[in-house]
Formats: sequence, structure tokens, C-alpha cells
Amino acid sequence: MSTTTPFKSTCHCRSISLTISIPNSSLPLKTHFCHCNICRRIHGTLAAIHTKIPEPVPEPSFDDEKWGKYETAKVTRFFCGTCGAQICDRAVTGESVEWYADASLLEWCGEDEGECEARGRASGLSDWPFEFTKHIYVGSTKDGGLASWLKRIDGRELEVWKEDAGSELLDLDRLTHTSLAPSEARKIDLEASCHCGGVRFFIWPPQSEDVFDSTDATITPKDKTRWYALLDVCNTCRLTSSSAVIPWMFPVASHLSLPDGSAWPEDHVVGTAKRYRSSEKVVRTFCGRCGATVAYVDETRSGGTVDVALGLVDMVGEGEERRAGVRLEEWLEWRSGRVAFVGDAWWKGLVGGLVEGMKERTGGDVP
Ligand SMILES: [Zn+2]
Ligand SMILES: [Zn+2]
Ligand SMILES: [Zn+2]
Repeated sequence: MSTTTPFKSTCHCRSISLTISIPNSSLPLKTHFCHCNICRRIHGTLAAIHTKIPEPVPEPSFDDEKWGKYETAKVTRFFCGTCGAQICDRAVTGESVEWYADASLLEWCGEDEGECEARGRASGLSDWPFEFTKHIYVGSTKDGGLASWLKRIDGRELEVWKEDAGSELLDLDRLTHTSLAPSEARKIDLEASCHCGGVRFFIWPPQSEDVFDSTDATITPKDKTRWYALLDVCNTCRLTSSSAVIPWMFPVASHLSLPDGSAWPEDHVVGTAKRYRSSEKVVRTFCGRCGATVAYVDETRSGGTVDVALGLVDMVGEGEERRAGVRLEEWLEWRSGRVAFVGDAWWKGLVGGLVEGMKERTGGDVP
């Protein structure tokens, strides 16, 4: 019997297909949610879902033009240059090199699917060969971000760390942030920016109720002074954003403006953004320099809505000490109690935990 199991990481456009061998002794793969400011702005999500690739470390060739590559101080991120999916990160500290994969894209391709299922059942993990263990850098979210909605998976509590694992454990029920009064907050615009800063634009709060006259009912808020927001677990978003859970907010294009004051462009390409058509009617954009998921536009939908990846969005003028929580609840009306496209979900256990967590938070009220 082989001592390693091959996994394949494939993006939505399929121009990247990377095989990674994992020693069987390292299964299930310990997988965590990183809420740090860099991960949120590189993915456009509330948290990146990462798994450390154990030894032996693969050294694929990333020279090919099809790869996008983005370097920060110690970490190089590799993503698909066509659809923007983030594939893996290489972190260098002194002599040591560590690799992390975006777990949402990793598919089991061991020889025996039956064995995979049997081992999953025996382990009690519904998403085997993945085991979700912890949230890290939750302190930087101010409001707990995704961690407040995802406390348990398969009945197991996830650890919640203020910074990296080993720093300080946080109690999400006691987390407070110096929240602004919603009416005050909404006098302040929102600003979207990817990590490299190549994509940047402003989002104004709704200026009047008639903004929503022709928007799709499923993404129209009850409170017409806020934009609508939801968590999406669909398969196409997973394969383009590299995250099994992506948060979207739904402003209309007339309320978006670029740093030079100009209107949102008709082709939806802002700054260093690149376009990717994921289906006949859908245009997605991502930053061609850092890979961040930026926007989704369904060209057949009425009302001129541009879905914006929430991980990029913050209060205008926010410095190092952010005051608003990453869920931006003063500006957004979250669809609570349920997530979008549950039937399509990649990790059933994870989504089960998310649904349970959202219901708990809204007192079982499922709108
Ligand atoms: Zn791709
Ligand atoms: Zn991170
Ligand atoms: Zn960027």
C-alpha cells in the first residue's frame, strides 16, 4: 500500500492543476481559518482557509506565465493568472520554508474513494480528509468576523486565537469593539482595496430608497439605509475565490466611485483588476497583481448591482486601529440564519456548523 496520498488543486478555469502528495500519516489534514488583514485582503473573504502541506514539500515550477505571483515580506502567494484562484503560499523564515495550500481547492485523488469514505466515517469527521481545528488572528477582526458564526464543526469546538496559535485564546461571546452608532457610521463611506492597493474604490451608503426599485428581491435589504450582505458557499465561487465560504455585499453601481472621482466602469475593470467570465452571463474580476477576488456581476440581473467581495471593504480612512468590525454591521444587513447555495456546498460539515452558528446568533430566527 502506498504511504502517500495524492491531492489535486485545480482552479475554475482549469489552467492550473497541481498535484501534491501528502504522507498518509499526516491525514486528516489539519486546516485552519486565518482572519489576518493580509489574508482577508488577498482573498476578498472574511478568512483564508489554509492547510499546511507536510514534508516532503513540493517544489512545482511556477515560472509558467499562467501563474500569478505576489510577494510580501516573508510569503509568496501563487494564484491562477486567468481566473484568480489562490493555489498556495510559500513562507520563508530564516532557513525554514513552509508551504500552505488553499484547502478549499484540494481534492482527494487517492486510488480508492471507498477507502476515503470509510476513513472519514471512522474518524467522525464529515469533511475528512480535512480536520478544521482553529481560527487565528481573530483579534484583527474586532467583531469576531466569520469565527462568531463558525464556532463548531461536527460538534467540535474550534480554537479561537487572538493572533497566531499560542498567543491568547479569545472568548467570542465577550468580544466587544468600540462600535460606532449605526446612524453616525452611515455618514461615512466604505472603501474597498485589495492587498497590493492596485484595485481601490469607494462605496457610498444607499442615498435614497428608490435605489432599490429594480434590484433583485433576494438581495434587497428590508432596511433601505444599508446594503444587503450574505455568505455564499457555491462551487463556482469556491473555485475562483479559493474559499469554500465567500462574503458578498450588494451595492448598486451608481453608488460606487473610483479614487479620481469617476464612475464605476462599464467593463467592471478597476485599476489592476482582470476580468474572468465564469459563465455566459457572469463576469468576475480579481486583482491581476495580488490575486484578490474583487467583484461578481450577473449581466442578466436587474438593478445594476455589483457584488463586492467583502474582505476588501472597510470604513473610509481606517488606520491601523480599526473601529469597525469586519462584518461592517453598521452598514450592512446580513442575511442571517442561512447561507446561499447550501446544496452546492463543498464541505457539508463546515456548512452545517455555519448554519448552526448563524441560527444560534439570531436566536433561531431564519428569515
Ligand atoms: Zn484558473
Ligand atoms: Zn493570514
Ligand atoms: Zn491587488
